[in-house]
Amino acid sequence: MCGIVGYAGNRQAAPIILDGLTKLEYRGYDSAGVAVSDKNGDIDIIKAKGKLKVLYGLTDGGNKLNGLCGIGHTRWATHGEPSENNAHPHCNDDKTVVAVHNGIIENFSPLKAKLMRRGYSFYSDTDTEVATKLVDYYYKKYGEPLRAISEFALHVRGAYALAVLFKEFPGKIFAIRKDSPMVIGYTDGGAFLASDVPAILKYTRNIYYTDNHEIVSLSNDGVVFYNLDREEIRKEYTVISWDAEAAEKGGWEHFMLKEIHEQPAVVRNTVNYFLHDGKLDLSELNLSDEYFKDTESIIITGCGSAYHVGVVAQYILEDIARIPVRVEIASEFRYRKPVLNGKELVIVISQSGETADSLAALREMKEQGIRTLAIVNVLGSSIAREADSVFYTKAGPEISVATTKAYSAQLIAMYMIALKFAKVRATISEEYYTQLKNELLLLPEKIETVLGSKEQIQKFASEMMDKQDVFFIGRGIDYAVSIESSLKLKEISYIHSEAYAAGELKHGTISLIENGTLVLGILTQSKLTEKTISNLVETASRGAYVAVLASENTLGIPDSFKKVFRIPQTDEHFSASLAVITMQLFAYYLSVLRGNDVDKPRNLAKSVTVE
Ligand code: GLU
Repeated sequence: MCGIVGYAGNRQAAPIILDGLTKLEYRGYDSAGVAVSDKNGDIDIIKAKGKLKVLYGLTDGGNKLNGLCGIGHTRWATHGEPSENNAHPHCNDDKTVVAVHNGIIENFSPLKAKLMRRGYSFYSDTDTEVATKLVDYYYKKYGEPLRAISEFALHVRGAYALAVLFKEFPGKIFAIRKDSPMVIGYTDGGAFLASDVPAILKYTRNIYYTDNHEIVSLSNDGVVFYNLDREEIRKEYTVISWDAEAAEKGGWEHFMLKEIHEQPAVVRNTVNYFLHDGKLDLSELNLSDEYFKDTESIIITGCGSAYHVGVVAQYILEDIARIPVRVEIASEFRYRKPVLNGKELVIVISQSGETADSLAALREMKEQGIRTLAIVNVLGSSIAREADSVFYTKAGPEISVATTKAYSAQLIAMYMIALKFAKVRATISEEYYTQLKNELLLLPEKIETVLGSKEQIQKFASEMMDKQDVFFIGRGIDYAVSIESSLKLKEISYIHSEAYAAGELKHGTISLIENGTLVLGILTQSKLTEKTISNLVETASRGAYVAVLASENTLGIPDSFKKVFRIPQTDEHFSASLAVITMQLFAYYLSVLRGNDVDKPRNLAKSVTVE
């Protein structure tokens, strides 16, 4: 959530910082600010509530701020309302220490009380002002930025990416992170710091991923990394292979629409990477066949759509690999005391690899000696680095807050893992195994076919745009698709919706069905369609407007249903990959029709780095 950008080099800093912040807008924010220090170290701060264009206006695109070194921030408020006063950067009283921060300082309250006893005053509601003044306190005590920052780290609890300017060190930025993302780049033109790669990709492809508790100093002369003992450490950079284009809209009206349309390519890339010459090769995971054989059960954990991928996977793994699977919401799982025997595999799914709850669940499991496998999209992210094995999805940067292509890539990852388990445990025949692999190769084309019907979905969305309540129902994998479809709709159209296992509706919720309530049934699981159809008929009898999304071969759909959308036939284990596309488009068009900010829906952030 929120974005940080820093620059120290030989060019005017503010325009670079503002431009970088726009590349991080997708992360979600409610106010923004920038601080630039001139050659004498004097620091100017400008902040504004609202979108970056307000800050652009106030600073004349950054030109009003003179200086070659600075830090900027887009804030997603956690402590204190969104306001100019609470916006970052924050500073000490004489503006000699100025900082931006992403994350939450959990013990800010006792620290604030302590600093107040030492004579500090506070003017905002934020934990960040406390963080800034704590750095100032240790800076005054030890007279040295690195020491001030390491003392800060030793005294705070919580998550932070913190970047600080000191008046006495013109041209330099000092930064540290713990559990909030921060990447560093360096070129001849200067040093860069950002919450995510797209912000600085224009300038450099050589990216250093900082680890927890690493301190970095940035200046025109280079970047230097230190540990908490202030000893210099060596770090290797990663060369980013995707280009800035991938993080640009490239003519599409919204990132979400672009990303929806990238799904055939993303699925193709992920499939082709792991499946070549007819062979499924998961050697990258560093898990032996023995391991796949001996694993007694699987726990899948994640948040939001990643959790929903787990729900799909549960049906598949249990069906084809005959292994017990539990799916857990990460924010619940991390605080539970699950009964484990050490023979479980924990699969953590996260697009960003920085999701705070998923990361915490991963750590909890590692501490208990349970093997962890991460399915992650962002190279070098915290979850990727800390898990025992990593399956990188090949989705490229996903900018729209509502996930589409990363969800699709995660599904593919889970299909492949399920296939591997099934093969090694010999729970399916060789023929069926081959058939499933072949089916994976056909998915991209079939996704294209679904995308081809977008006009029909757009028209349907225009007819439905005034609905107040929508119900998605299905059984088995169709239920798993329902929960994702409902989330997508809520996230971006702001229409209230519920997802129900079709058989469950009559146990209470059916009382909400009124004349005209939209009920969307998903019918891709042939053994279950009759049952779901009965449940849909039950709602139609109570006045619901019933529409269904069915596979090509689904039979027996009553004429009384108002709309029938078809998706190509695939192996039923994989039908989520097709059904979800229609539902993504439905949510997308409703969002557009209702005039919402599709890529940056209200109250949401892309990478949820707070609990
Ligand atoms: N906790 C800080 C605040 O509320 C930082 C929030 C953020 O990450 O944007 O200001």
